[in-house]
Amino acid sequence: MADTEKKCDICGKAFENSDKLNKHNLESHKNEPAKVRRVASQSSRYKATGIAAAIAIALVVGVYFSENQSSPRNPIQGVECEPVEALVFHIHAHLDVMVDGKSVTVPAGIGIKPNVCFYWLHTHDTSGVIHIESPREIIFTLAQFIEVWDNTPGISPSFEEATNGDTNLKVFVNGTEVKDGFDKIQLAAHDEIVIISGNIPPSIPSYYEFGGL
Ligand SMILES: [Zn+2]
Ligand SMILES: [Zn+2]
Repeated sequence: MADTEKKCDICGKAFENSDKLNKHNLESHKNEPAKVRRVASQSSRYKATGIAAAIAIALVVGVYFSENQSSPRNPIQGVECEPVEALVFHIHAHLDVMVDGKSVTVPAGIGIKPNVCFYWLHTHDTSGVIHIESPREIIFTLAQFIEVWDNTPGISPSFEEATNGDTNLKVFVNGTEVKDGFDKIQLAAHDEIVIISGNIPPSIPSYYEFGGL
């Protein structure tokens, strides 16, 4: 059986058998003692360790960045949070919350993480105007807005606190009672939405003066 091809450890040259390789070593590398070879093989081991370390670092960095992006911007029921307000789709609805005939203020800053991001549904002030701002046209629901309300850090009162934990809330949209679940009530431009807990007030707002919005 023929000797299999041999490669020189030092220069990588190939030889048809070990005799020729040995001869080559004696002639070409006689002044380079064995330690050179050891260094050569060590350096390739270092190289392998280096690559493994680089991969490990890349993985750690990758996980760090993806977590860093996903945790503060964590979507709420599909509603994402943008570092800069996305205004491609920009409409407004208005929400009144009434408990036993009295207005409850809708907090400012729902859906806004200061210096972090703006959820596609948010309030800039206590007027009750819901800003619907997203990078494309999406149909949002009242349920999504309530979820954003309850999941924005630092917002007080929560929706449940504002409505005393009432589970028999009534909803009027543009003056008409809507008996669908919150997840079926869509937020359309210039809708006036009234959520009522307890006594139905004698007059229910049916529109809101949006001004330029
Ligand atoms: Zn906005
Ligand atoms: Zn707006």
